[in-house]
Amino acid sequence: MTTIADRLANAQYRIIQAAQISSRNPDEIQLLAVSKTKPNTDIIAAYAAGQRHFGENYVQEGESKVIALKSSCPEIQWHFIGPLQSNKTKIVANLFDWMHTLSRDKVAQRLNDQRPDTLAPLNVCIQINISEESSKSGATADEMFSLAESIKLLPNLKLRGLMAIPTSTQDIQHQKREFQKLQDLYLSLQKIYPEVDTLSMGMSNDLEQAIEHGSTMVRIGSAIFGQRDTPSI
Ligand SMILES: *Cc1c(COP(=O)(O)O)cnc(C)c1O
Repeated sequence: MTTIADRLANAQYRIIQAAQISSRNPDEIQLLAVSKTKPNTDIIAAYAAGQRHFGENYVQEGESKVIALKSSCPEIQWHFIGPLQSNKTKIVANLFDWMHTLSRDKVAQRLNDQRPDTLAPLNVCIQINISEESSKSGATADEMFSLAESIKLLPNLKLRGLMAIPTSTQDIQHQKREFQKLQDLYLSLQKIYPEVDTLSMGMSNDLEQAIEHGSTMVRIGSAIFGQRDTPSI
């Protein structure tokens, strides 16, 4: 039987291999374990195996996990990676360390206002709608620059970089084009804000391609915790 610790080690091995192929330093690539829909016992198992960064998609589920695991897993860095309605920002501002899916000024403003002064600034990534389908969430390239400018004025937010969920497709060339566009956008943002250091892209099925295109944080769920019963986003 493969355990969570085995699958975690395997995911880390895939990251190292992909980094070597692109002549990158594997230490530049953070593994974010996506634990949405999975029980706390799974998170504890991954934590015991050394994992510290965890991603959650749903506000209520995230809230109960952060609270429940506070004392048993004190070193967890919690990342919010799901869609966030502006009336739920307070929970993220109070309990999470990172927010990956920022794409609107209004949400940035609320997160900033609700972030307790006792906590470090909330690390934020701007989500890019790379497929440019109007149904998908995320900012366009133009919106990215203006949102970055607003975030820089908010003292309780720290702009870390970009996040995206490329189109899930069998068409490798199409996928490559999207990853390339994201890498280009990331580099253009970094030119203006040199402190930007995070390109959050790549999941269980495409982490190798993402790393080839400069990803610094891969968000891995099913490859570590197994398939999810409930449909994801
Ligand atoms: C669920 C999810 C993941 C993880 O997907 P897997 O294919 O299970 O690795 C990554 N990022 C986001 C935003 C997700 O919602």
